[in-house]
Amino acid sequence: LKKLILFVDSGDTFVDEATEVRDENGTVVHSEMFPGAQGLLADWRDAGYSVVLVADGTVASFENIYQEKGLSDCFCKRVISEAVGVCKPNAAMFEEAMRVMNLGESDKKRIVMIGNNLERDIVGANRMGIRSIFIAVSNKRRKYPLCEEEIPTYVVKNHTELRALVEVLEMQLENQDILEIKNT
Ligand SMILES: [Mg+2]
Repeated sequence: LKKLILFVDSGDTFVDEATEVRDENGTVVHSEMFPGAQGLLADWRDAGYSVVLVADGTVASFENIYQEKGLSDCFCKRVISEAVGVCKPNAAMFEEAMRVMNLGESDKKRIVMIGNNLERDIVGANRMGIRSIFIAVSNKRRKYPLCEEEIPTYVVKNHTELRALVEVLEMQLENQDILEIKNT
């Protein structure tokens, strides 16, 4: 199992929201993923990364989206705003994700939040004291921070860069552990 824990957004991070088809209740019944996103989630699952969905929307929508792609098992846990009762950047979303993963204060250095929304994903991560990766694949949202709280730790342009960055962050954590063992 990998040391890095990935908290991930869904809409316009992996799923192209412009392609979403909804039923009369507003539940997403069909959607397309960005090129490279589907393979990346499957590869993270196969490589042993802990991927936690931390997303705003309805439980049924996310069930449909990931079932359609054969990726239902790519998240070890799902923290959905409909179930939690608040949306990001509310701390309750991030606290719930840490709770269901049995993570404490000392584990925060292992967590990184990945998302496309500065106001929700990045602000939420900064307030929690966890790192963040801003992915700007969609043009729907603002790409430049307006205040200090919106400044991400890392920025990637696409899922190829995201894949590479996650590998580097994992390697850094593994190296830190080796150095700590050497120094004790
Ligand atoms: Mg999003």
